Amino acid sequence: MPELPEVEITARRIGEAVTGAVIESAMAPGINALKTYDPPLTAVEGRAITGVGRRGKLFLISLEGDLTLVVHLMSAGRLQLFDSRASLRDRTSRFLLRLTDGRELRLREFGTRQRAWVKLLRSPELGAEETLTELGPEAWPDPPPLEQLLDEPRPLYALLRDQHVVAGIGRSWVDEILHAARISPFKRGSDLDPDELARLHDAIVGRLGDAIAHYQTAINLPIPDKLPMPLTVHRRNGEPCPRCGDRLEAVFYEDYVMCYCPTCQTEGKLLKDRRLSRLLK
Ligand SMILES: [Zn+2]
Repeated sequence: MPELPEVEITARRIGEAVTGAVIESAMAPGINALKTYDPPLTAVEGRAITGVGRRGKLFLISLEGDLTLVVHLMSAGRLQLFDSRASLRDRTSRFLLRLTDGRELRLREFGTRQRAWVKLLRSPELGAEETLTELGPEAWPDPPPLEQLLDEPRPLYALLRDQHVVAGIGRSWVDEILHAARISPFKRGSDLDPDELARLHDAIVGRLGDAIAHYQTAINLPIPDKLPMPLTVHRRNGEPCPRCGDRLEAVFYEDYVMCYCPTCQTEGKLLKDRRLSRLLK
């Protein structure tokens, strides 16, 4: 599941490789992958790519002539660059940008659900695009003071993943951040004391920054289908805590799992049952 560090390294690597390249044509083979119809997709033909940026977990592919492609990977998408054209048999293709030099930028999506999307927007529309304007401030590299940002009586596990509150953190990195900060996932944002706020700030900036630094040395083109995420807690329930050696535990939800260390984060309390976790909300 791509989050801020994964989208950041992908934007950097693909941006380095395609900036200046000219688009020959674009196709949207995915069902409803393209969410806009004006300007038409043919408007990208003959335009150069001027940069690839990131906002939260979204890509912003800038084109000549004040056009921008906004790309959202959702939970199972990947943005990848290939040296040749996609086979028609590649059922993962949702959106393709064919470049005049023969390469192809491809939004692919793994799994059965088709949820990843692309919007083609002119500059004024980009400024009003709700998926962007509703995003909270960036979690990295310099989030605003958390005291105001997280002053809500919601558990941190939910609050930190709410893109309207702070942009870029998802299910994987929230486990890592809260473990690094030694704070319970069910602690409420408004209940954090100054010391916890400071630890949480350092954990957010540190863990996301370290992940990006890791990818900067480990990831080159082509972007792999599965990024080697340097996770030490998430989905490692049953393994020893990297800090104290205690057993990492998990709370299971319908389609995901939250991991934590009882000794480091919850004063030894086990939060095994998701019914219990609902009560704590
Ligand atoms: Zn521990």
